Amino acid sequence: MPASLPTLKRCFCEECVEKGGTDSHGKARGVLMEARFMPAHMKRVHEEHATQYSPPVQQSAVDAVDSVAGHLFALTITDDGPDPGHGSKQQHDKQPAQGNPFR
Ligand SMILES: [Zn+2]
Repeated sequence: MPASLPTLKRCFCEECVEKGGTDSHGKARGVLMEARFMPAHMKRVHEEHATQYSPPVQQSAVDAVDSVAGHLFALTITDDGPDPGHGSKQQHDKQPAQGNPFR
């Protein structure tokens, strides 16, 4: 593989098909780009589409781990929810109580 000559590849991702338009035969032309740029380009396009299509993906993912994640999530909420308030209040109550003998 000669390093001096960049390998050009035609990208037919949704974005490039849209950008490149179609040729006289109505076929998608895609966008010609250096092959080494394609992974980053595909990653960006994929991520953009992933955010667009995230709701159904997240739903199926939640379904798969629903029982475990649900329990963990509930535990996290019950653990974290009351704790910070009670903990800090108890600490505030204890500190004056510890200081009481000095009064
Ligand atoms: Zn592309």
